[in-house]
Amino acid sequence: MSPKIITRFAPSPTGFMHVGGVRTALFAWLFARKHDGTFILRIEDTDKEREVEGSIVHIQESLQWLGITWDQGPYLQSEHLDLYKKYAQMLIDKDLAYADPYTEEEVEAFRKKAEEEKRPFLYRNHRPERVEAWNGTKPLRFKVPQIKRYEWHDIVRGTLSAGEEALDDFILIKSDGYPTYNFAHIVDDIEMGVTHVMRGEEFISSTPKFLSLYEALGKEPPHYATMPVILGPDGNKKLSKRDGAKDILEYRTEGYLPEAMVNFLALLGWHPEGEQEIFSQADLIEAFSLERVQKSGAKFDEQKLLWVNHEHIKILGTQFVEVFREYAKEKGGALPDYLPLIFSELSSRSQTLAEALEHLRSGEFSFMEESITYPRELLLQGAKAEKETVVKNLTRVLELLKEYEPFTTNAIKEVIFPYATEVGRAGVLWPMRVALSGREKSPDPFTLAGLLGKEKTLSRLEEALAVLK
Ligand code: GLU
Repeated sequence: MSPKIITRFAPSPTGFMHVGGVRTALFAWLFARKHDGTFILRIEDTDKEREVEGSIVHIQESLQWLGITWDQGPYLQSEHLDLYKKYAQMLIDKDLAYADPYTEEEVEAFRKKAEEEKRPFLYRNHRPERVEAWNGTKPLRFKVPQIKRYEWHDIVRGTLSAGEEALDDFILIKSDGYPTYNFAHIVDDIEMGVTHVMRGEEFISSTPKFLSLYEALGKEPPHYATMPVILGPDGNKKLSKRDGAKDILEYRTEGYLPEAMVNFLALLGWHPEGEQEIFSQADLIEAFSLERVQKSGAKFDEQKLLWVNHEHIKILGTQFVEVFREYAKEKGGALPDYLPLIFSELSSRSQTLAEALEHLRSGEFSFMEESITYPRELLLQGAKAEKETVVKNLTRVLELLKEYEPFTTNAIKEVIFPYATEVGRAGVLWPMRVALSGREKSPDPFTLAGLLGKEKTLSRLEEALAVLK
C-alpha cells in the first residue's frame, strides 16, 4: 500500500485570502480528499512584522465558507519555537549551522566590495573562521553543505533544475528567535509527514535551498506540484486586484455561492478529462488529479465565474429560497412572503444572489403583492386596438381561463396563445399583461398568470374589465 497522502495549506497571516491562495488550498485539499489523505491547515506566523491582525480568523472563515475542511490545525508556527530550536541544534551539532557574527555595517561593506569587484555577494564566502556558540542573540545561518546543481521532479512542471546561484547560507533562526520561512516550513513538513506540497511558482528558485536543507537533515523531500499562475482577463499579465484578486469573502458579499466559487477555482488551471464544466464538490474530488493541472497560466474570466454561479443557483432548486433568505438577511431588509412562489423565475434571471436581490428591490415582482394599481390608459397603451376590442378580448381570455386546469404557465400559454394569434396578439397579450402586473414592463402574461395562480389571475382580469367599462 502506498503511504497515506498528507497535504497542507500554509498561509502567512499577512492579509486577506485572495483567489490565488484559495486555489492552492483547494488543490491541496482536493488531492488529499481524493486519496483519503489528511489535509492540514498551518499558519506560518513567524514574520511578526508582516503579520496583519485578524488574518488568521479571516483565513479560517474563508476556507469554511468554501467547505475546504481541514483535518488538523490550525497549527501556529509561533507556538512551536522549541521545535525549530531542536532542529537548529541538530544542524549545529553536525557543524551545518553557525551564528552569524557580522553587524549590519560589516555586511554592507562585504556587499559593496562584491559589487565593486562585479561578483555576486554571497554569505557563504564569508563564513567565520572561528565559530562562536550560538546564544540566540545573533541570527543562525545554515552552512550549505554542498554547492551544486539540483535537479528535481515537479508533478506539474516535470524536471526542474537550478544551480549554485540559488544556494547561499540562509538564515534559519532570526535574532528575534523566530525561524525563517525557509527553515520552519521544512521542519514542519518533515514533522507532519507532508507528502505533497502545492505552491506557487515563486518558490521554484528557492527549491535548491530547501533540497540542501533536507539533505543536511537526512530527510527525503516531499513531492512538489507547482500551481499555474493566475492571469488577468487579457491572458497576459498576472491577475491584479482590479481584475478580481480581491478578498475571497467579497465574492460572498457579491452573491456568489461557495460551491460555484469552488467549481470555478478548480477549473483555474485544472481540466477534467471530459467536457463537464459544472461540478459538485463530490464530483470534483472524484475527478481531480494533479496530472491534469496545467503548466501554463490560467486566465481568470469573470464572465465564466458568473456563468458557473448561475448554473449552481439553478441547481439549488427549492433550496434557493433558504440560501437566498440567508444572504438577504446579511444585507438587511425583509423579503416578501411570495418568495417561494417566484423563486424559480427569480433564480433563472439572476447570475448572483445580489442580482436576485436587485430584481426584488427594483419592484420587478411587485405584481405579486396583494393589490396593484395602474392608470387606466396603460391597459390600452400597447394594445394597438380600440377599447371595445380590448374588452371583448379580455372577456374571452377570462372565459377560456375560468374553465382551465392545470393552471400552469405552459398550459395557459397553450390555450391563450392560439387565440391571441387568431385575433391579433397585441390586442390580447398587452392588456392581459398589464391587467396582471400593473406595469409597463413585466414578465410575459403566461408567466404572470402561472405565478399569480388561478384565483388572482381571474380577479385581476375582472378588475381590468371593470376599469375599462
Ligand atoms: N507561508 C507561505 C506563503 O504563504 C507558504 C508557502 C508554502 O506553501 O510553502 O506563501
